[in-house]
Amino acid sequence: MRTLLLVEFDDERSARIVEQMLRERFGLSSSVLRAPLPEVRTRGCQLDAEDLLSEVCRLRLANDKDVALGLTNQDTFVPELNFVFGLASADSRCAVVSTSRLRHTDASIYSARVLKESMHELGHTQGLRHCPNPFCVMHFSNSLEDTDRKSYEFCTICATKVRPSG
Ligand SMILES: [Zn+2]
Ligand SMILES: [Zn+2]
Repeated sequence: MRTLLLVEFDDERSARIVEQMLRERFGLSSSVLRAPLPEVRTRGCQLDAEDLLSEVCRLRLANDKDVALGLTNQDTFVPELNFVFGLASADSRCAVVSTSRLRHTDASIYSARVLKESMHELGHTQGLRHCPNPFCVMHFSNSLEDTDRKSYEFCTICATKVRPSG
C-alpha cells in the first residue's frame, strides 16, 4: 500500500479532519507529522505557496513516503494570483493546502471545505487536471462559492483517471 504523509505546519486540527477520508479515497496508509513552518518568501501577511510546497516535498523524501500533503492556517499566494487555496505537484507527489480562507463559524462547513481542497490537491498529485464539472472536486475554486458548490467526490470521468494504488 502506498503511504501518505500529512504535515501539520501550524494547523492542529485540519490533518485529523481529512486523514481518514483521504486514506480511504486514495487507498493510502497515512501518518501525521508536526513540523515547524519553514522560512519562506512572503507577500504582506501571505506565505509563498511554492516555498511551502518545496518543504512538503523535502519532508516527503526525508520520511520516505509516496505522497505528502501539508496544511497551514496561513494565507498563501503564487506570483500570478491574489491567493491560492492550495498548490500541488504531480511530478513530486506533494501538495499544500491553506485553511486560512476556509474558516467558518459552522465546524461542519469548515471541515467540508478543508476536505474538498485537500482532495483536490491530492487529486493533482495523482495526475488529475482541473475539471469543467462544477460539482466535481477537481473543479478549480476561484472563490469559496466554488468550493461550497462542489462535492468532495471525483466525477465519474475524473474517478477513472485516478492512478490505481500499488
Ligand atoms: Zn487545482
Ligand atoms: Zn471531474
